[in-house]
Amino acid sequence: MRRTIIAANWKMNMLSKEVVDFFAEFGNTALNSEREVIIAPAYPYIKMSAELAAGKNITIAAQDVYPKAEGAFTGMVGGKMLADLGVKAVIIGHSERRRIFGEPNDLIREKVKFVQENGLHLIFCVGETLPERESGVMFDVLKEQIYSAFDDNLTLPPEKITIAYEPVWAIGTGVTATPEQAAEMHTFIRKILKGRYDYADSRILYGGSVKPENIQGLMANEDIDGALVGGASLKASSFMKLVNF
Ligand code: PEP
Repeated sequence: MRRTIIAANWKMNMLSKEVVDFFAEFGNTALNSEREVIIAPAYPYIKMSAELAAGKNITIAAQDVYPKAEGAFTGMVGGKMLADLGVKAVIIGHSERRRIFGEPNDLIREKVKFVQENGLHLIFCVGETLPERESGVMFDVLKEQIYSAFDDNLTLPPEKITIAYEPVWAIGTGVTATPEQAAEMHTFIRKILKGRYDYADSRILYGGSVKPENIQGLMANEDIDGALVGGASLKASSFMKLVNF
């Protein structure tokens, strides 16, 4: 039985007061839910989020990590820092990191390895761009993203390996994949997880303009195990609805 995950990616949003207000309004929503709730604040707000979330059944995640414990890596945040801050999960391979910061597959593979070596829950993002979908190569794109990161590189059990299918054309655009489009891709990913890695029990989240109004339809498919949410996770009222969809 795969437990549904509802995860928030706050990206480069939310200042101290907004974080405090969010947790005050969000209250014990996660405690009263059967869902696994994950929140990924920006680095400077991880510690205060972990403190505000204590005892509330919320896992605090990082949006990225530099794959070293510590050292001379100006501007980076590494493994020891994440552990010190109370982080239990890390998002790797988000399309904004791939696209805006030019993260290549070999660095992403290193991060996937590092997150597992540190015993953290890996949330690994994959997804095709609009031109890739329009030219029909989306399955090949996903294969390359998954194979390059996972082949001979999975060490943690399936419950600590989660894939987020996030079509790039749906992220922050207000355009959502239809439940049929999402289901097709999730079923494809499940086949890979099962056949190539024996990880059929890993969870697969959908991400891309998920909102309280569309989550129900998207979550109806048995291969969709939850959502990774950007914009609609920034307001407690909206994220509460998503957690309790
Ligand atoms: C995301 O960036 O992971 C995301 C899904 O964003 P949004 O919900 O805003 O499309």
